[in-house]
Amino acid sequence: TRRPLVAANWKMAGSLQLAQELIQKFSRISGGSPDVVLCPPSVYLDNIQRKLEAASQTLSGCSLHLGGQNLSHQEFGAYTGEISGGMLKEFGCKYVIIGHSERRRMYGETSDMVAEKFAMAQKMGLTPILCVGESLAARQANRTFEVLAGELDAVLDKVGIMAFDNAVLAYEPLWAIGTGKSATPEQAQEVHAYLRQRLSALSPYEGEKIRILYGGSVKPSNAADLFTQPDVDGGLVGGASLNASEFVTLCRIAS
Ligand code: 13P
Repeated sequence: TRRPLVAANWKMAGSLQLAQELIQKFSRISGGSPDVVLCPPSVYLDNIQRKLEAASQTLSGCSLHLGGQNLSHQEFGAYTGEISGGMLKEFGCKYVIIGHSERRRMYGETSDMVAEKFAMAQKMGLTPILCVGESLAARQANRTFEVLAGELDAVLDKVGIMAFDNAVLAYEPLWAIGTGKSATPEQAQEVHAYLRQRLSALSPYEGEKIRILYGGSVKPSNAADLFTQPDVDGGLVGGASLNASEFVTLCRIAS
């Protein structure tokens, strides 16, 4: 059985105040928490890591980790504005989001770069959360599986199936991100089963083991139906992670 995971992708939003509220709310949780990953803007990591350490006694009941939203595919050097995996690691990150559609579409990240970032994350001791997802046009043209296979295979071809032993996959349909219109539980399950089967074809063990998160307008009102699908192992949450009560509710629902 796969342990549920809920990740908060704050994107370019959130605040130290939000971090404080979240930590206070998580401090009151007792018994049964999923793995929780907070991915704030990287400038907040140092401060939030300190807050987590200061609250470690009261947080002992939950499994709260930090993650980056992106990393450079280079290890270090003259890359102005970039942040390395080693730096994320140094500031307490355990995970890093790779290949979010916003990075692919707005910042020109190709599948090749995504594959390189995946490999670099692992080299630096981080667990990649690899995002894949189809556009509305692709779905309407019945090309959903083709697009997803392309994005997944670009990484598989570079790193191999065994690298997925330490990775998380996230299905984020573009048309569901920030739109308020999530995929239906059936749509999510269909895609998650497809992705898992694609990995299982290479290694039944890894296919069965990997956690596949759903992302795209997850909120307290739809989370239970999504998270109880057999191949949905939790969520990657944008908007609703910026509200401490809603995010903690989502984590309760997942556990
Ligand atoms: P929303 O939850 O705001 O739709 O964002 C999803 C997302 O992109 C998480 O990475």
